[in-house]
Amino acid sequence: MKAQTQPWQGKFEPIDHMIKPPNTYRTASGAPGRDYWQQRANYKIKVILDESNNTISGEETITYYNNSPDDLSYLWIQLEQNVNKKGNEDFGSINNTIKNGMTSRQMQFLTRAIDFPAGYSIKYVKDADGNHIKTMINNTMMKVKLNTLLKSGESTRFSIAWSYPITDRSMYLLSREGYEYFPSDDNTIYLIAHWFPRMAVYNDTEGWQNQQFQKLGEFALEFGDYDVEITVPEDHIVAATGLLQNSESVLSKTQRKRLDDARKSFDKPVMIITQKEAEAHEKQKSKKQKTWKFSAKNVRDFAFASSRKFMWDAQAVKLPTNTVMAMSLYPKEGLPVWQEESTKAVRQALEVYSEATFDYPYPVAISVNTSNIGMEFPMISFNGGRPKNGKISDGAKQGMIGTIIHEVGHNWFPMIVSSDERKWMWMDEGLNTFLHQRTLAERYPGFNSVTPKSIVPFMSGDKNILRPIMTTSDNELMSQFGANFYLKPTVGLQMLRNSIIGKELFDEAFKEYANRWKYKHPNPADLFRTLEDATATDLDWFYRGWFFTTDHVDMELSQVKWFKVYEENSNIEDQNNSSKVKIDASGKNVQVQAKDFSSGPEMITMNTTPDAAYGQFLSRIDEPKLRKQLSGKNIYEITIKNVGGLVMPVTIEWAFTDGSKEIDIIPAEVWRRNEYEIQKTFIKEKKVKEVNLDPNFEYADTNMKNNSFPKVETPSQFDAFKNTK
Ligand SMILES: [Zn+2]
Repeated sequence: MKAQTQPWQGKFEPIDHMIKPPNTYRTASGAPGRDYWQQRANYKIKVILDESNNTISGEETITYYNNSPDDLSYLWIQLEQNVNKKGNEDFGSINNTIKNGMTSRQMQFLTRAIDFPAGYSIKYVKDADGNHIKTMINNTMMKVKLNTLLKSGESTRFSIAWSYPITDRSMYLLSREGYEYFPSDDNTIYLIAHWFPRMAVYNDTEGWQNQQFQKLGEFALEFGDYDVEITVPEDHIVAATGLLQNSESVLSKTQRKRLDDARKSFDKPVMIITQKEAEAHEKQKSKKQKTWKFSAKNVRDFAFASSRKFMWDAQAVKLPTNTVMAMSLYPKEGLPVWQEESTKAVRQALEVYSEATFDYPYPVAISVNTSNIGMEFPMISFNGGRPKNGKISDGAKQGMIGTIIHEVGHNWFPMIVSSDERKWMWMDEGLNTFLHQRTLAERYPGFNSVTPKSIVPFMSGDKNILRPIMTTSDNELMSQFGANFYLKPTVGLQMLRNSIIGKELFDEAFKEYANRWKYKHPNPADLFRTLEDATATDLDWFYRGWFFTTDHVDMELSQVKWFKVYEENSNIEDQNNSSKVKIDASGKNVQVQAKDFSSGPEMITMNTTPDAAYGQFLSRIDEPKLRKQLSGKNIYEITIKNVGGLVMPVTIEWAFTDGSKEIDIIPAEVWRRNEYEIQKTFIKEKKVKEVNLDPNFEYADTNMKNNSFPKVETPSQFDAFKNTK
């Protein structure tokens, strides 16, 4: 073996010092600890949507439970709408360069040339006795300076009144909510989200999670119960987080009857509002108002959509422990594909995700059609994908269905397994994309879905731009976050499931993580530890490489040596006379690096083991038997170089001269002793024609050209030039 000339990097050393140490809140096995605690916030909200000037105004009462061991003198409230205020702009997450030939819309993103009075007006903050509470606002965060200390184990109640002008979604980049105007019938769809002042998270790892909202890093939120009254124009239809409490006063008798039918329809959706009815609503433009009342239990947020344009369909989905209403709302502009595919996609997501984690626990799962984005909230998601004049390309249709599955899937990550999105975007996006891709692969086998091959272009990118997955959300580039926070963790989990841990064991561990942390706030360490704890697999090497570095996988099959032993030529009888028995082999050129198998097997010498080599053992290897076992066999010694830096298991495919194939798998730990180059010897009955590394493309190897022996000759540029002549 060659001497190691490169330094040891400790790729298999534990990552204990790189992740949060365990404590009584979070155990070393990755589960919530005996002292785990979590705050809680219940909300009672009344809100009015004023269509004439696109304004929201509301009043809310928050009951905040301090389950922490700490006394709190102030609280932090999130005011995300302030991100669009002039001067509070999103901290440069938008690339601030001028390019030749920019569109006016790009120019608006960049300069906010069309001024808009975005952001909250806070009318009052007062305690349960009606006394004014002092506040201080820092951009998207408001400090509420409590009149009396909130002791550990106690709760406090306070009220906030606010209003803000709803933003035109087409004017801002990364605009997850706001309104969309339809000039043809002079109507609007309102997607109302991060609309009310919400409690920031206070927990054992962050204290107050009061990092500013900069758009890329999404939300960290506490669980609670919600009672929300939404007042909208009389002819609007409202879809929201939670169960509708007053259907008799907001829905017609016909609509209620159809909803009852939908509750019993398990095979296909029932239309609650048809196209004709929605088109009639579009023309009404009522000036009267109606109040919709919703109640939601144990959710971390509340969002709603309101419009007179909505068509509405619904069907029941039966899960082992829950029956859910899957529903879709869309304008006629979404036809026909939304009516055909949306609720069906909601159903696929509910079934596959429930199977992979835990049953969807809420009563409704709603998909609302919108333009451009896909955005998730508890029980409701806003999903892009809209045909043009009733036509949609195959690719766009796949994208739309994928978006619906993805956003409905977010109900699990992060709406229930409630990780901190502002800090670790990959924790919800990565895990959710992993299950969303699994849903596509299982339920839509004809569609394109992500495999390790999908990440190769990203992994082979410029290392000066690449950041590790373990990068906080807002520190990633706009051009890179999709690949780094969605795709790379997805492919990592696929590798763990399909190749490193194995499906059965991995699926159980993934389920364990989801169940340990449902309705709680997990950290990356809790996921890392649980996957090891539930599988008896040391994965620190995998986490270290895949999550903490920007190394890539590139293995090179640098050499295959072929040896053969002929028993009939070996002088076994003579072994008493000589301790060295030469075994004849038909090859030559032992020292030459072969490029293929054409020069035949090489000669090897196998010596009889001298007595001294047995040490204290008195028994002896049966030499004739050993030689007989090697007789006629092909012995192959392979050399593999780790070019990319990431250690991975090695899958070797042997293609034999008779046309058959065989696979050998060496676990990643083979790289423990030498992280740069390994050698391994195999005995094969048959003659090998070709050896290939990673034949099924399991490990996102960025260069497949160096994975084969005989080496694939790539013609030199001169030869290529000559051949074109
Ligand atoms: Zn997502």
